[in-house]
Amino acid sequence: MGGTRKDTMRNPMFVYDEQLTTLILDYCRWRLALDPVPLDFGGAQAESLHASLKGLINPEGTDARRVMELFDNELATAVVSCDSPRFLSFIPAAPTKAALLFDMVVACSSLQGTSWMEAAGAVAAENQALGVLADLAGLPEGAGGCFVSGGSAGNLSALMVARDTAAHRMGDGAPTHPLVAISEEAHSSVGKALHVLGVEALLVPCEEHRLTGAALQAALDGHPRGDEVIAVVATGGTTNAGIIDDLAGVGAIAKERSMWFHVDGAYGCAALFAPSVRPRFDGIELVDSFVVDPHKWLFAPFDCAALVYREPHLAKAVHTQDASYLDVLHSDAPEEWNPSDYAYHLTRRARGLPLWFSLAVNGTDAYRDAVETVLAVTQETADLVERLDHLELIRRPELSVVLFRRNGWDRDEYERWSAKLLDDQIGFVVPTSWEGESVGRLALLHPDTTIDMIEEILATMA
Ligand SMILES: *Cc1c(COP(=O)(O)O)cnc(C)c1O
Repeated sequence: MGGTRKDTMRNPMFVYDEQLTTLILDYCRWRLALDPVPLDFGGAQAESLHASLKGLINPEGTDARRVMELFDNELATAVVSCDSPRFLSFIPAAPTKAALLFDMVVACSSLQGTSWMEAAGAVAAENQALGVLADLAGLPEGAGGCFVSGGSAGNLSALMVARDTAAHRMGDGAPTHPLVAISEEAHSSVGKALHVLGVEALLVPCEEHRLTGAALQAALDGHPRGDEVIAVVATGGTTNAGIIDDLAGVGAIAKERSMWFHVDGAYGCAALFAPSVRPRFDGIELVDSFVVDPHKWLFAPFDCAALVYREPHLAKAVHTQDASYLDVLHSDAPEEWNPSDYAYHLTRRARGLPLWFSLAVNGTDAYRDAVETVLAVTQETADLVERLDHLELIRRPELSVVLFRRNGWDRDEYERWSAKLLDDQIGFVVPTSWEGESVGRLALLHPDTTIDMIEEILATMA
C-alpha cells in the first residue's frame, strides 16, 4: 500500500493501549508500595525457569496479562530484591521513590542524553546533578563529565583519558609502555580497565589495606620503571571493607610527579554527603577525575554512575567520536555540552535524571541524613558484634561495611548459614575473604535497615 497508510492501519504496537497501560502501572504502583519489600530468591532452578518461558515468544504474541503474571510469579521472585533493607551482601541498593518514579518518566519520554543539540534540557539537568557531586568533592568551577552505566565504565573512561593525556603532554618523552599505580585493594574493574587499555599496573602494597602516600612513594622509588608511571588510582571506600585510601598523601605525590590522580569512589564517595566522615576524604579535591555510583549509596535506580573530571576538555579531546554523520553535533558554542564526549560511549539514556529529580524534590539535606543514618546503624552493628560472644569484630568500620568472624566457622559453615538465612527470608548475607580467611560481611546501605534486623540476623549465627 505504499507510504500512505491510513490511521486505521497503524501498527498496533505503537497505539496507546489503556488496558496495557493500566496493567503495567498497577503493577508498578503495587511494587512501589510494598513495605517491606520481600527478599525473594536468586539462583532458581534453570529448568523450571526455562519451562515457564517456553513458547512465550512466538509469531502471534502472548496475552500481556499472562506474560505479566508469569513475570510476577516466576521471574521476579527468582531475583533477590537488592532494595530490601535485609539485603546486606555485595553492595545493596536503595532507590528513593522519587528516583524510581522519575525513571519511568525517562523511559516513557524516550529521553536520551547524547548531545546538546538533541537533548539540551536533559543534559542541563544531568549537569546540575553532576555539579552537586563535583562541589562535594571540592572541585573547581568548570569541572564536569557525564553519567555512565557503572563504576566499571567510569574507571575505564577516566583511565583512557589519563593514558592519552600523558602521551600528549609528554610527546616524544612519553613512555612507550606506561604504567598505572594501583593498590592491592583496588576494585577488580580497575585491573580490567588497564587490561583493556593495554596498560600495565604497578601494584602498590598497602599498609593495613590502605594505600598511603608513603607506600606509593616507596613503590615508585623502588621500581625500575617508576618514572614511567603516568597515573595513580586510589579508592574512596573499598568495596570489601569500606576503607578510604590516604587521598591527600596520594594526591600530593601525584601532583609532584605530574601523574593523573583518579579516585574510584563508586561505593564510598556517596559519604561525601556526610559531615561525620567527610574529613576522611580530604585530598579528593586534588583529583583529575573521580567516579561515584548513585546507583549504590546515592539512592538512584540502576544504572547510574557519575564520572567527573577536573578539566573536562582533556576528556573531550580523547572521547569525542569523529564520524561525518556526527559533525553536526559539534559547534564552537561555549554552552554546548555533549555527554558523549566524556566517556567511552555514544548513544546514552539520560540516566542521571532520576537522581536529579530526587535531589531536587528531596533536597540535599535528606541525602546527608540518609547517609548519616546508615553510618550510625553501621557503628551500632559493630558495637553489637563486639558484645556478642560468638562473634568477633575484625576492624572498626570506616563507612558502612562490617567485617566479622563467627568463631570456629569455616567457609562451608558460612555458606550453609547464608543459604538458610535467605531460605528463611531473614536476610541476604554472603561471606567474603579477609586476609585469606572466610569471614562474615554486612554491607549496609538502606536507611531502613534497623539494628533490630541486624540483631535478628546475627542471632542465627549463635
Ligand atoms: C561497585 C564498584 C565498582 C564497579 O562499579 P559498577 O557500577 O558495578 O560497574 C568499582 N569500584 C568500586 C570501589 C566499587 O565499589
